[in-house]
Amino acid sequence: MKPFEYARAGSTAEAVRDFGPGTMYLGGGTNLVDLMRLGVAEPERLVDVSRLPLDTIEPAGDRVRIGATVRNTDLAADPLVRSRYPMLARAVLAGASGQVRNVATVAGNLLQRTRCTYFQDVTRPCNKRRPGSGCPAIAGDHANLAVLGTSDACVATHPSDMAVALAALDAQVHVTGPGGDRILPMPGLHRLPGDEPERDTVLNPGDLITAIELPPAPPGASLYRKVRERASFAFALVSIAAVLDVQDGDVAGCRIALGGVAHAPWRAERAERALIGGPATGEAFLQAAEAELEQARPLPRNAFKVPLARNLIVATLEELAA
Ligand SMILES: Cc1cc2nc3c(=O)[nH]c(=O)nc-3n(C[C@H](O)[C@H](O)[C@H](O)COP(=O)(O)OP(=O)(O)OC[C@H]3O[C@@H](n4cnc5c(N)ncnc54)[C@H](O)[C@@H]3O)c2cc1C
Ligand code: SF4
Repeated sequence: MKPFEYARAGSTAEAVRDFGPGTMYLGGGTNLVDLMRLGVAEPERLVDVSRLPLDTIEPAGDRVRIGATVRNTDLAADPLVRSRYPMLARAVLAGASGQVRNVATVAGNLLQRTRCTYFQDVTRPCNKRRPGSGCPAIAGDHANLAVLGTSDACVATHPSDMAVALAALDAQVHVTGPGGDRILPMPGLHRLPGDEPERDTVLNPGDLITAIELPPAPPGASLYRKVRERASFAFALVSIAAVLDVQDGDVAGCRIALGGVAHAPWRAERAERALIGGPATGEAFLQAAEAELEQARPLPRNAFKVPLARNLIVATLEELAA
């Protein structure tokens, strides 16, 4: 590992002030330190923000504010989160392992990098790691990679489970940075790769996530489901965060976000539009899923994700409707 300086920030203002060229913020370190060991990330300076006093979960009227340094375990166990947003607690528990969740922070989870194997192997080209060097995944190993919103430059997926639930809940991400304070919507924090796959998000250098704010939970029943190769310690092949409100047999409200299929949590807006106001039937769920997945651009070895996503959408909505 390349030598680096370490500083612990005492306040958010100090963290932002200490951020200079070659600096990275350090949360729990469960992703960043791995990438430093692999030589993928080579910061000259780490500013440790994991002990900033941003570790509370508080109601704010009918909204809930989650501090950026809240540990994943504490988020999933929080009574307010479990009662108002059970889907979010389930999504967090579907990620990583108990040991990792004990250390990982909310902000770090959102900003973890793709697990594309070429990205993590510095001996291979990768547009995300070294812009302009090429994307070997497109002709190579892409079985776990994206089918929606891809570009010719990158087909990576975003690995966070929590981000998928936050996208379905219309969460807001509070950011402070050299340019002042901002609030970013979810989805909206993460970007699609386009011709700049090196940029995972719309954040600027020095931007520090301080909190996630959740609006009131939408009416209806909700679920997070994750399809993966092993029952634990595996990233999603496809996951879904869904909320369905059925009134007199019709869909009064619906939110669907997908994980494991794109460079960002994917809000299935076409499917939502197709469903709202129509009957809550298996046939309608199938048509909505197909309307969403018409946009898919799978590669030979990840084409299985399209029927997998379709079946997951239909099965999850059927379970919610029941
Ligand atoms: C074996 C393994 C399996 C895993 N499986 C899953 C899984 O199935 N699902 C899942 O969702 N996750 C999974 N994870 C990911 C794990 O949840 C992440 O590593 C973790 O959430 C990252 O959090 P952290 O606080 O350790 O971030 P760090 O590693 O400290 O940081 C990650 C990134 O966030 C930046 N950062 C941190 N805090 C801030 C802040 N406040 N503002 C701005 N930037 C910041 C850092 O600079 C860095 O770029 C897995 C991890 C491991 C090691
Ligand atoms: S898919 Fe993206 S991260 Fe993976 S090799 Fe291609 S450019 Fe790199």
